[in-house]
Amino acid sequence: MRDWPPVTWPAPISHPQIFSLLRRPSLVFIGLLVLTSVACSLLQGPQQPIIPSPPAPVSQEAQDSQAAPLALEALPESVAINPVSNVVPRQDPEIQSLLDAVSQQQLVAYVQTLESFGTRSTFSVMDRSDFGVGAARLWVYNEFLRVGNGRLQVEFDSFPLDLGGLVTDQQNVVATLRGNGSVPGAVLVTAHYDSRTLNPNDGVSRAPGADDNASGVAAMLEMARVLSSQTWNQDVIFIAFAAEEQGRHGSRHYITNRLPDSAGVDGVLNMDIVGGRPGIPQSVRVFSPGPDTSLPRQLARYLDFVGGLYLPTFDVITVDAVDREGRYSDHMTFLDVGIPALRLTESVEDPNRNHNALDTSDALDYNYLRQVTQLNLAVVANMIGAPPQPAPPTVSPMANSGAVILTWPVDVLADGYVLSFRPVGAMDYAPFRFVAADQAGQVAITDLDAGTTYALSLAALTANGRISLFSPEILIQP
Ligand SMILES: [Zn+2]
Repeated sequence: MRDWPPVTWPAPISHPQIFSLLRRPSLVFIGLLVLTSVACSLLQGPQQPIIPSPPAPVSQEAQDSQAAPLALEALPESVAINPVSNVVPRQDPEIQSLLDAVSQQQLVAYVQTLESFGTRSTFSVMDRSDFGVGAARLWVYNEFLRVGNGRLQVEFDSFPLDLGGLVTDQQNVVATLRGNGSVPGAVLVTAHYDSRTLNPNDGVSRAPGADDNASGVAAMLEMARVLSSQTWNQDVIFIAFAAEEQGRHGSRHYITNRLPDSAGVDGVLNMDIVGGRPGIPQSVRVFSPGPDTSLPRQLARYLDFVGGLYLPTFDVITVDAVDREGRYSDHMTFLDVGIPALRLTESVEDPNRNHNALDTSDALDYNYLRQVTQLNLAVVANMIGAPPQPAPPTVSPMANSGAVILTWPVDVLADGYVLSFRPVGAMDYAPFRFVAADQAGQVAITDLDAGTTYALSLAALTANGRISLFSPEILIQP
């Protein structure tokens, strides 16, 4: 097993206008990115991590020009003080009905069909209709068309792969469900469809790859089927990646050649080994690199939160790591270029059924796979069905201890907002503050703990309980 380099994510950028920062200029440097040197391996060249600009130090001139902090009694009437609202995140009945539509029978059929091609090895035959990776990828392409309700744009993303002088024709399968244009960017759902046996270069022997990773492809196809029944605000792109088992070549090709605008990708959910089996804990592991303010960790926290709303008995176990020790998957290719991405993997893997002929469809737990599918479906439906992810609010100090004024533009799609004052180091969101749209835009929060450093973010809500991604967190110490 090879070791993959750790990816270190930057801490969030502190808000330059916060008076506490002016008192404690050392905090300004919290946002500096710590780079790790990256080792080479046979399969992965040196990485070029994205280096964000650190926040500019606040000049004396800028400090002098700051208006004196307002006292509570001097606030204009337009500023809502400690607002409350009954617009809160909750199960949206429309999304719940989509979760109910996730079919265990469909999941069984997808997995069994993928297994029936004998092997989906990168090196297997490509010109047979019933065997090998060529038949498998054509089936995935046609299946996206079948389940897409006429709404999925399905295409092959083809590329030659040269491994040790042996050149093969590889194809990712990309299916795009266009939103109505009201929210820019896209959410990506990904799963590799290739399989392997013990010898990674063996293109002939049986490699059923039911758990690894027909399970992830099945969950993705079922999400595509159910989501294609509705119109959403934002695009969602489903990608079945090729040649993951030889070093993530499909996702590398996609990111280098096909990703139109990496800044427009809100998040990537990568499912790899999610089929479960009878008896394992009813939970899923979600891998995200820290610190706890990193963008992938924020995405994991959002997934955990939405999962708690819709599947309260199916736990999300957030793991503070890029992946399992010495292992990898396509989410890492996105992390390498600064896009928040998660790997979802079953709670406990069976090492005896990994990368061999024993990884068969009869060993999976399709009720487990159904819950993983529902979890991802609930998360993606909220992401693409809610108002856009807000930008962080502007924070102004107040003369009173523990009090701040938050200012942000109110989106026309939002019926309300949720403010998260998460004490840094807390794994989950702290109790929220809710603001209805008619009071949103400028609020004063006056009862914070003056000794606590908070990671502050906000998300937009709809009246029926949908919740957007949270804004990137900023650090404040009121
Ligand atoms: Zn895999």
